[in-house]
Formats: sequence, structure tokens, C-alpha cells
Amino acid sequence: MTTYAIDLGHGCNFDGGAVGILKEENVINVVGRLVINKLLQLGHEVIEVRPVTANSTRHSLQQRCNTANAFKADVFVSIHANKHKGQAHGTEVFAISTKGRALAAKVLRNICSLGFFSRGVKNGSHLFVLKNTAMVAILIELFFLDSTKDVALYNAEKLATAIVEGLTAA
Ligand SMILES: [Zn+2]
Repeated sequence: MTTYAIDLGHGCNFDGGAVGILKEENVINVVGRLVINKLLQLGHEVIEVRPVTANSTRHSLQQRCNTANAFKADVFVSIHANKHKGQAHGTEVFAISTKGRALAAKVLRNICSLGFFSRGVKNGSHLFVLKNTAMVAILIELFFLDSTKDVALYNAEKLATAIVEGLTAA
């Protein structure tokens, strides 16, 4: 059994995330809930780390890290979706550590098997939640919310299954 800290990005009073053809917050909530339920069904422990309220983005992010660290989660997974003026598409997963990058690669490969373009595993050393969590940590940018190609491929159930299989692969 593994303890997963699942970070549903944004969704904290003032912070609703990006808006493209789809809204980041809706995608995160739907895919994230499915990921959580699937992990629980497999017998893993899940800690949801998104705070209810925050005074600032930094406070929002710090609370997520504090919760994951306090519960000594084994793995931290932050779920986001991307936006770039309709000029980009595909999936990218950020990590810092060697273990994080290995896990990111598994999740990325699985998501891209659904047809999303692989933008690669990227260095997440600028990302607050990756820098300030004590465990293996990845941040998934599922796809581009403003890409018609990506939105056509979007299927929450398939995405969640791909993520969970990537996370739990031996
Ligand atoms: Zn985001």
C-alpha cells in the first residue's frame, strides 16, 4: 500500500485555474476525483491536499505541501491542465528528483498512449509544490485546454486510468 497525496490544482477561492475551450478546474476536479477513487479501490491510501481557503497563491501552495509532508505521504501528485493561446498541444509531466522523473515518465507514457503528444518529462525545479514536498513528487499537465486536438481526445475516465496505471506500475 502506498500513501498518495493528491493535489487537485487551483480550486481555492480566488484561484480557478486556466480557461480554454474547457475550464482547468472542471477537468482537474473530474479527472482528479476519478484518480482518487481508483487508487482507493486498489487499496492505497489517499490524502487530498487542496486547502479550502487561502490568503494568496503562495499560501495555497504552502498548505498543500504542509499537508502532504505532515501525513508523510509516499508520493505527491499535482494535477493540472495547460493553456497556450491555441498554439500548443500535448502532455507534459514535471519532476525534480531521479525517482520523481522515473515516475513522471511512466505516467507520461500512459497518458500519451491515449493519443496525446508527448512534450516530455520536464524539470520542475521552479514549481513550488515540487520544491517544497519531502516525497517523490510529480506535477501533471494533462493536455492543453485551448487545443481543439487535445480537447477532442479528452476522456476523463481513460485519463484517470492511464494516470493510476502509471502511478502504480511496478
Ligand atoms: Zn494549473
